[in-house]
Amino acid sequence: MAVDKLADFHGPHVQPPLPGHVRLSWYELTPRVSRIRVISHTCECRETTYELCAAAGQGFVRRNDRAEQTVHETVWTLTATARRIFEQILHGEAR
Ligand SMILES: [Zn+2]
Repeated sequence: MAVDKLADFHGPHVQPPLPGHVRLSWYELTPRVSRIRVISHTCECRETTYELCAAAGQGFVRRNDRAEQTVHETVWTLTATARRIFEQILHGEAR
């Protein structure tokens, strides 16, 4: 798998949600495995950040809301699917 160069402090900015965007289901964190790798994350300057994560051969997106101090995650799925969800979030196509 290619290593992306996005995983530094200044990640990309999330675009505002588009009309008719996909509404993702967000779940409470389930501590399933101890080692979670963050592949990419959105810029830390925003109140809400999203992280593309990989663990145990699967992928998912984590949402950190600093204002509400909550962390949620999507379903765990194929890494490629999780990457697509992360890109949809970035482009405002899903939230
Ligand atoms: Zn920023």
